[in-house]
Amino acid sequence: MPPALLSIRDLGKHFGGFHALKGVSLEVEHGEFIALLGPSGCGKTTLLRCIAGFLAPDSGDIRIAGDSVTRLPPHRRPLNTVFQNYALFPHMSVLDNVAYGPRRHGVPRAEAAERAAEALQLVGLEALGARHPRELSGGQQQRVALARAVVNRPKLLLLDEPLSALDMKLRKRMQIELKHLQEKLGIAFVFVTHDQEEAMSMADRIVVMNRGLIEQVGSGTAIYATPATRFVAEFIGEANLLPGAPDGAGGLRLAFGTGAVPYHGPHPGADARQNHTGVLRPEHLELLDRPDAPGFLTERGVVEDVINTGGQTLVMVRVGDALLASRRLGMPGDGLNRGAPVVVGFRPEHLHVVTGEAPP
Ligand code: ATP
Repeated sequence: MPPALLSIRDLGKHFGGFHALKGVSLEVEHGEFIALLGPSGCGKTTLLRCIAGFLAPDSGDIRIAGDSVTRLPPHRRPLNTVFQNYALFPHMSVLDNVAYGPRRHGVPRAEAAERAAEALQLVGLEALGARHPRELSGGQQQRVALARAVVNRPKLLLLDEPLSALDMKLRKRMQIELKHLQEKLGIAFVFVTHDQEEAMSMADRIVVMNRGLIEQVGSGTAIYATPATRFVAEFIGEANLLPGAPDGAGGLRLAFGTGAVPYHGPHPGADARQNHTGVLRPEHLELLDRPDAPGFLTERGVVEDVINTGGQTLVMVRVGDALLASRRLGMPGDGLNRGAPVVVGFRPEHLHVVTGEAPP
């Protein structure tokens, strides 16, 4: 098998006494769109900067197409980086900004201009080559930065929150454009974001990071439906967490309302010293019209809040000591008021169990 486009092995990085990367390993295939997702300070940018060569890791190895680049300076690595703040040259025309890279690599002026015009066409800015960056909107400047990054057709493009300076509408449009561009060019993208919707809608695989470690790598669907850890379950989307404990017979008992529900599905280990938590997504907790609804585990509760999120309704229900969320399509409907008694329930097959303690 040919080597992966990017192969990161056991990368470690300290800043003084602070351990920013604690042994990160990751493989990226040719043409893949990877999102690095995680809370502020989890090490996304540090990882990206190590790949780019702007930071030297303390330990570990980074290979591109099988060759170690760990000790190469940034400009000798076969990749390009797009930063959050575009970093365009203000005194140069848009075309010259894009042609700068090829020119620096010794490409003759006319050919560099031709390549730059082609790259500008890719991002839909062919008519604006003569302008200066200050004469462009934020979205257009971001497109120029992209054109500049892809003009040399690198195999790998690193992007550090490239859309975060844009307003929400433009950002959504650029997400779609960027994804199309990536597919058209066949360049692998490693894209840092702390916006899970952005990661979900764009990436082939999402790398969820937390405190300098990778918690899970998988498609958006996989990390939502089958989170590997309690952290991922809470970080991606919303989750009802049902604290659990081994039942002594290889299964678990999960607290639900005043009772406990038995759980015999797969879980990460029956080690009595570990804590297990049932994860139930709000769309799987249903409001039912009777407590003996077939196929459901049910409990009685009281509506504590009804939140209309436009097209969807989130109903917060107090069940025993727990406040659980139930989500459904459509408007709230009649009779669903604060204080109303309700029956909530879920199908046991929708439970997913992770290790880790649920909050008190
Ligand atoms: P954000 O989403 O806020 O950009 P991030 O996941 O990209 O966060 P990093 O920028 O990788 O986080 O930083 C990881 C940790 O390392 C943070 O706690 C940060 O304060 C620390 N750190 C990063 N760069 C340095 C540095 N040059 N010197 C000291 N500490 C640093």
